[in-house]
Formats: sequence, C-alpha cells, structure tokens
Amino acid sequence: MALIVQKYGGSSVADASSIKRVAKRIVDTRRAGHEVVVAVSAMGDTTDELLDLADQVAPIPAPRELDMLLSSGERISMALLAMAIHSMGFEARSFTGSQAGMITDATHGAARIVDVTPVRLREALDEGAIVIVAGFQGFNRDTRDITTLGRGGSDTTAVALAAALNADVCEIYSDVDGIFSADPRVVPKAHKLDHISSEEMLELAANGAKVLYIRAVEYARRHGVLIHARSTFSSSEGTLVLNQARREQLAAQGEHMEEPVVAGVATDLSQAKVTVIGVPDVPGKAAEIFKIVAKSGANVDMIVQNVSAATTGRTDISFTLPKTDAAAALKALAGDQAEVGFLSLVHDDQVGKLSVVGAGMRTHSGVSATLFEALSTAGINIEMISTSEIRISVVVRADDIAEAARVVHTAYGLDGDTEAVVYAGTGR
Ligand code: ASP
Ligand code: MG
Repeated sequence: MALIVQKYGGSSVADASSIKRVAKRIVDTRRAGHEVVVAVSAMGDTTDELLDLADQVAPIPAPRELDMLLSSGERISMALLAMAIHSMGFEARSFTGSQAGMITDATHGAARIVDVTPVRLREALDEGAIVIVAGFQGFNRDTRDITTLGRGGSDTTAVALAAALNADVCEIYSDVDGIFSADPRVVPKAHKLDHISSEEMLELAANGAKVLYIRAVEYARRHGVLIHARSTFSSSEGTLVLNQARREQLAAQGEHMEEPVVAGVATDLSQAKVTVIGVPDVPGKAAEIFKIVAKSGANVDMIVQNVSAATTGRTDISFTLPKTDAAAALKALAGDQAEVGFLSLVHDDQVGKLSVVGAGMRTHSGVSATLFEALSTAGINIEMISTSEIRISVVVRADDIAEAARVVHTAYGLDGDTEAVVYAGTGR
C-alpha cells in the first residue's frame, strides 16, 4: 500500500463530466489498495472569472477579500469531487486549506507555506477515507485569515501535502502527457521525457516552460518529493521529476541514469529588452542603474554590457526583464537620467528568449557551439547570451523564436519519431 497524492488542474475538473472522470481515476487508485490524498484546482477558468468580477466592483480590491473570493473556487471543486466519489460508493472527505493545516505567512495573493499540520487528513486516511484538499490556499496563524499561494498554487499545495504526509509520489495531472523536450505547440517533433532531474526542471520552468510551477518544483527538491507529471486524459506514464536522492537510489538499483547533454529547449516571449545608451564608463554606473531598476520593482534577468568606444568613454548596457515590469523601470531610469549621465533609453518588446537545459553540459564541451551553429545556419541573429552551469540562453527577435526552437531541437538530436499529441488544452 502506498500513499499517493494526486493534483488535478482546472482543465481536469472543468465540468460535471470531467469531475466524474477524475473521481473514477481516484477511486481506481483507492481500489488498487492505496491511500489517496487529492489537491484540486478551481473548475476551468473559475479563478480568472472571479478576478474579473472583483475587477468590476473595485479597481484595487482589498487583498484580504480577494483571497476570500479566490479561495472559494477550490471549495466548489473539492466538494463536488467528494460528492462524485460518494456516489461511486467510496468514502471521501473534503477539507479547505486551513482545515488541512496549510499554514502560510500573511502575504495575501502570494503566501508562502511555512508549516503543514495535516492532523485531520491523517485521521481521515486512517478511517479509510479518500482525502480531498482545496489547492492554492492556506491560513495565517497571526492574522487568522485565509491566504492564497499565487496563480498555479495548487501544484505547491500538492507537493507540500506529499512532503508532510511522506507520500510515495505526487502525481500532477493536467491535459498534457508529461514534460516534453520542448513545447509541442512550438516544436511538433518534441518528445515526452521519461524522467528529468529537478534541477533541469527548475531551469526549464524558470525559462518559460509552463507544465509545472517553479515553486512546486523547488519545494519538491527541498523536501525530496517525487513528482510524476501526467495526463488526466490517458493512462500512459508521464514524466518523473527526480531529485538527487532518488537518482542515486535508482542508480544503486542498477537503473541507467545517464544525464542528457540537453534535456529540453524552452522559449519565453514574456520579456522585454531595455538598452541604456551612452553610460559613462566609470566605476559605479552599473550599480547606480541596477539600483534604480531594482527600486522600481523590476526583476532583471539577462544583462549585457558592450565594450566602450575609446573615443567617447561611454558604453551601452542592455538588460531583459518581464514586459510587465518595463514601464516602471523605464520611468524610474528616465527620472534619474541626469544624475546617472547616460544619453538615452531604448525599449524593445519584440524579443524572445530561447534556453537549452541539460545537466550533462557540466561534463560535455561544444554544447554552446552547437547552439550558435544551428542558429547561424538558420540565419537567426543572437542579441544576448547568458549561461548557467546547466543552461545556455540567447535572446533573438520574437519573430524568430519558433524557428529557433525547432532548429536547435533538431541540432541536439532531440526530435522524436512521431509528432507529439497536443490536446487542445491549456497545459494546466
Ligand atoms: N485556481 C488557481 C489558479 O488558477 C490555482 C491553480 O489552478 O493551481 O491559479
Ligand atoms: Mg486554474
């Protein structure tokens, strides 16, 4: 008997018949003799619809009330799911985040889990019940208020429950078959990965892959939770996200766990590029610029500084940041232009970032050469480059990003034999 945590995203519980399908899947797992704990998202686009409603009654809704509102979405799906399971003759009990012991800090809309005390869940399991928990929500002990974990937070709920209950696996169900070597909507020859390391998954998620939420992967890595990302719409195996301990365990059992040089390719069109032109090339200017940018609340990603022209003693500094942060950063920089002494600002929101990720990069050479070669053959210009130990990212024109992903995917030998199945879904 194993303890299995399952998380169902909004697309898996979008209507009554989907809820029944999910209930059947849960009951099948219970029938196989396992204890089952389920974290469930709000039905379909409920969260967006609630946000829209809030927007219609107040331009800036009170954060406390917004969390009260949004957390109701998951209460609907959890109760309906429990009812559907009852009608199949099985015992199920639903719990809100606070009943489940999901203790968070007090930050409304982006709360962090600080403790999980699943006493009631353990009791219900011991009494033979299937446990259903509302995803995405928690409770703060000091304010005694309901909090939410941020968009996509149900993944984190599931992983945190798996850690606290010492579950054997945390299955994350969505409308895609698992984690792919690239987004199949962009790269039709992307193939499903059987497994991926948590560090590779973190890099992919941080660089545009949307299958799993980065905070959930981080939590799983820290607490040694095994994630299995799979589809509600098929019974085939998905992708295992293995943390280091699990990899070593498998290797000890004789499983061949070679790390791929490149596991996957991610694309991200959510960033903009800002160039600060004519920055005096003297010590302290970069510090001044990025202090101003940081104060505007922007989250800077890549930075490139050009060699300064000897004749002018000035240089250009470019950086990327989320498109949504660009206006505030530009305004802040413009306000301090005289003080910093740069000449002008250029804002470019037609950029795309392509990243290749693979743990094997640590021990292989020539990985970046393959990337640059593939892009050059396709006539795609590289505007910025950055690397980490297991990732290389480049910024190219937004128009080039899809072709760039395809040629790079081919260059690293990642193309599958068949076209990936794409359900017309959201990937959640
Ligand atoms: N319902 C929330 C959202 O749509 C949480 C989740 O789906 O994970 O963001
Ligand atoms: Mg949702």
